Amino acid sequence: MADEHRMTRPAFTKVLIANRGEIALRILRACKSMGLQTVVVYSQADRHASYVALADQAVCIGPAPASRSYLDQTALLLAAKASGAEALHPGFGFLSENADFAARVEQAGLVFIGPTADNIRAMGDKISAKRLMIEAGVPCVPGPDHALDADDQKSRAVARQIGYPVIIKAAGGGGGKGMRIVTQEADLPDALSLTREEARRAFGASDIYMEKYLAHPRHVEIQVLADGKGNALWLGSRDCSPQRRHQKMLEEAPAIGIAPDVIAEIGARCVAACERLGYRGLGTFEFLMEDGAFFFIEMNTRLQVEHPVTEMITGLDIVEQQIRVALGEDLTLRQSDIAETGHAFECRINAEDPETFAPSPGVITAWHMPGGPGVRLDSHAFAGYRVPPHYDSMIAKLIVHGATREIALRRLTAALDEMTIEGIKTNLPLHRAFVRDPQLIAGGVDIHYLESWLKQTIWTKDHSDGA
Ligand code: ADP
Repeated sequence: MADEHRMTRPAFTKVLIANRGEIALRILRACKSMGLQTVVVYSQADRHASYVALADQAVCIGPAPASRSYLDQTALLLAAKASGAEALHPGFGFLSENADFAARVEQAGLVFIGPTADNIRAMGDKISAKRLMIEAGVPCVPGPDHALDADDQKSRAVARQIGYPVIIKAAGGGGGKGMRIVTQEADLPDALSLTREEARRAFGASDIYMEKYLAHPRHVEIQVLADGKGNALWLGSRDCSPQRRHQKMLEEAPAIGIAPDVIAEIGARCVAACERLGYRGLGTFEFLMEDGAFFFIEMNTRLQVEHPVTEMITGLDIVEQQIRVALGEDLTLRQSDIAETGHAFECRINAEDPETFAPSPGVITAWHMPGGPGVRLDSHAFAGYRVPPHYDSMIAKLIVHGATREIALRRLTAALDEMTIEGIKTNLPLHRAFVRDPQLIAGGVDIHYLESWLKQTIWTKDHSDGA
C-alpha cells in the first residue's frame, strides 16, 4: 500500500523557473496547464515583468547584472528552499547547460528539469560529444575526435590531411565564440594560439580541435525527447540557416528539400545516440548539411528558443513533455505517433537597431500584436514595459503555421506587417524585408545568406516603420 502510494505521488508539484523574459512566461504557461504551482525569480531590473505577477510566488534574487542574479547558483537554491519549490526549470541560456549547477540542484533534493549532470557534461565538451556521436553512427564533420596537440607541427599535418579551409574550435565553446576559420597554412600558428587563448579565457579550458570548414552548408537540426529509461523519440527537423554572427534570426520546420528517408535515417541515429547515452529530457542535435550530406556539430542539452516551430507542426507541447519526463513518467508516445502537419516559421524579434544591431533598451510606448489562424506570439513584453539593458535583446517570438510553406510564409509576412512596436528600435523592418526576399521564399538558403543579403540589400527604405 505504501509503495503504491509512493508510486502515484508526483515527484513534484511546485516548480521554480530559473530564468526570465519570454521563456519564463512560456514555462509558466506549461506549468499552469499541468496544474503545477509556480515560483518565478526576478532580478531588480525585472520586478515589473508581466510573469512575476502571474506566478503563485515570486522571489527577488538580486540586482540587475546576471552574474548577481540569474547566474547566482546560491541565490537560486535559496529561493527554491524558501519558496518550497521541489523542481527547477533552467529555461535556456544562463545555467541551463551548466552540469555543476544541475548536480547542485539534485544534491539540494530538487528535480532538475533537464538532462542529468552527466548527460550535460558529456555533450558540453564538443570533443567528447563528437566521439560519442561517431560511436553511435551519427555522421560528423571530417576531422579528428581528439584535442589538438600542443605541438603545432602535428596540427599542421592534421590540417593538411583534412584539407583547407579548416575551422579551429574550442572544446568548451558556445554562443558562436571560440571559433576561427583558417584558409591557408601560413595563418595556422596564429589561429591556433589565438583560439587556445580565447578558449582558456572564455571557457576555462584550453582544449581546441580542428575540423573541415564547410563553405555553404545549411543549419539543420533534429529535436529529440527521451525519458532516460530507454525510450527516445525524434520530433522532426528544423532549418535555422538564416543567422547573423552565428545567432539565429529566423527558423522553420520542417527543413525543406530533404528526402523523407534521409531525414528519418538521421533522426533514427539521433535516437540511437540518446539511447546509448541514457539521455533524459529534451535535446537538439545540430547538423550542417551540404550537398545532401549531414555533419553533426553539437548537441544542445536544453529547451531551445526555436522549439515552437516543432510544436506547431507536431501539435505537441514540448515543455509539457519535458516536465513529464522530469516527473519520472515514461514516454507513452511512440515514434509512429509523431506526425508532421504543415509548415511553421519563427521570427526572433529583438530590441535592437535593425541597421547597426546596437541594443535598443527602453520603454515600449506602443505594442500591437498580430493574430488570426496559425499565428502565435510568445512574449513577456507589453505597452509600457521597459526593456532592461542588462540581458539578451530578444523581446518576442512570432511563430506562424500554415498548411504549406507558401501559406505559412504569407501569413508570416502579413503578421509582421500587422505588428507595431514603438518607443524602442526593433529588427521588425529587417524581418519584413527578409521574408520578401525571393531566395528566402524559394527556401534552402545557406548559413551565410543572411549576412551577404544584409551587405547587398538596401532594405530599410521600403519596410521601415517610418521612424
Ligand atoms: P556554438 O556552440 O558556439 O553555437 P557550433 O559548433 O554550434 O558552436 O557552431 C556555430 C556555428 O558556426 C554553426 O551554426 C555554423 O554557422 C558555424 N560552424 C561551426 N562549425 C562549422 C564547420 N565545420 N564549417 C562551417 N561552419 C561551421
